[in-house]
Amino acid sequence: MKSDDELKRDHPELYKVAREGGTEAPFIGEYVNEHTDGMYHCAVCDAPLFSSTAKFDSKTGWPSFTDPENAAAVTLHDDDSHGMRRTEVRCAKCSAHLGHVFPDGPEKNGTTCDRYCINSVSLTLKES
Ligand SMILES: [Zn+2]
Repeated sequence: MKSDDELKRDHPELYKVAREGGTEAPFIGEYVNEHTDGMYHCAVCDAPLFSSTAKFDSKTGWPSFTDPENAAAVTLHDDDSHGMRRTEVRCAKCSAHLGHVFPDGPEKNGTTCDRYCINSVSLTLKES
């Protein structure tokens, strides 16, 4: 687990997102077009969050997933900032801000999946 001081000093971009709820610019994140098999872990506390099998190309410029690795990996919170009603996604273990979830993911077996829109900087991919 990285401390807030460590984040501020060594990972300012991650601090901005994880602790201040910031959003990285679209299309610049290192995992936007990543297709390697593996598990995406929390960049702050290393908890496993999203599997590469749930990743899809949303064309939004952020890594997007249909589901977390398991329902207990993340917590969801109402977010009314910026004049929008959105649902914030945080790491269940360290409460780092990860991104937001929207109900407009890809179709799978006749139902519309969620779209977990996650900042690359919040994630660390461990190849399987
Ligand atoms: Zn975490």
